[in-house]
Amino acid sequence: MSIPVTLIPGDGIGPSITEATVRLLAAAGADIAWDRQLAGQAAVTAVNDPIPEATLDSIRRTTVALKGPLETPVGKGFRSINVALRKAFDLYANVRPAKSVLPGLRFDDVDIVLVRENTEGLYIGVENYIKIGGDDHAAAQSMAVVTRAGAERIHRYAFEYAVAHGRRKVTLVHKANILKYSQGLFLEEGRRIAREFEGRVQVEERIVDACAMELVMHPERYDVIVTTNLFGDILSDLTSGLVGGLGLTPGANIGKTAAIFEAVHGTAPDIAGRGIANPTAVMLAGVQLLDYLGQAERATRVKRAIEAVLREKKTVTGDVGGSATTDQYTDAVIARL
Ligand code: NAD
Repeated sequence: MSIPVTLIPGDGIGPSITEATVRLLAAAGADIAWDRQLAGQAAVTAVNDPIPEATLDSIRRTTVALKGPLETPVGKGFRSINVALRKAFDLYANVRPAKSVLPGLRFDDVDIVLVRENTEGLYIGVENYIKIGGDDHAAAQSMAVVTRAGAERIHRYAFEYAVAHGRRKVTLVHKANILKYSQGLFLEEGRRIAREFEGRVQVEERIVDACAMELVMHPERYDVIVTTNLFGDILSDLTSGLVGGLGLTPGANIGKTAAIFEAVHGTAPDIAGRGIANPTAVMLAGVQLLDYLGQAERATRVKRAIEAVLREKKTVTGDVGGSATTDQYTDAVIARL
């Protein structure tokens, strides 16, 4: 019986890279009944609503979605739809793997899974301006909230992930030396959960700035990283850069009852509509999706085909040093299955 999954093609390069992924998963024999739904700018244009109720209903029904990037205007209009979706389905764990596959990069031994807290921290969107004298925008403040329950579940997710995937170490990344309350609580919970996993997974701690430096000098020292929302957002782009850029890294947003899989990158407006976008990140999100659906063997087969084509570096897209179109690259991966 085919498995129902919501498909949100997204904006910019989204439709072309998600279609490439649909084609690849079908070629791999995944029996998925895609329920195509709108969100983002495409939904604003069609129904004047960035997250139509029909899309939310679809995800409530299927509990799983594959999503292309969505356009969020900077500093005006609606708030990030991605953040809203994470909130709506309480997708608290953002899992972003970055692995060296492309040849010729500075490092060939990166294999990091960054687990980012996805619902709290500075991204809760509680912000305001303070008026002083005649200046409405004389000051601005943003609130960061860390709860014990939120910190506990993300650390538990990271440690359980490490055990389930045969990983040796989890690094707790924080800034508790300065933000003693919010970051302090995050670290306190991390240490408590780490004790439960003693003997099964090693644990270490890093202050985020030191971690950033070490990541660009010795990324091989890292295995699983768990950190708060903002730090995770920044560090996961850094780890993407270590393995060849944003076109290559996927992200899973996991909750207790739903999951949304996507690329880490955005809509790439500069190359949209030219047929040259790299679909690898969404394809690897498709691999995470297959894993989540319990199709680990098929997931591995798809991942190996993608890695083989990237390693060969003959039929790859422009962002990673090739000249293939999205379709040519997709055909090459399918041929490798
Ligand atoms: P971006 O990731 O879209 O682009 C950054 C650079 O990387 C661009 O030069 C782009 O061409 C390149 N790039 C990104 N993905 C690529 C791919 N698959 N193949 C080849 N090149 C690729 O970031 P941005 O320009 O800061 O953001 C553009 C829009 O995307 C904004 O509206 C932003 O809000 C949105 N965005 C959405 C998501 C999401 O939906 N998850 C994430 C980030 C940004």
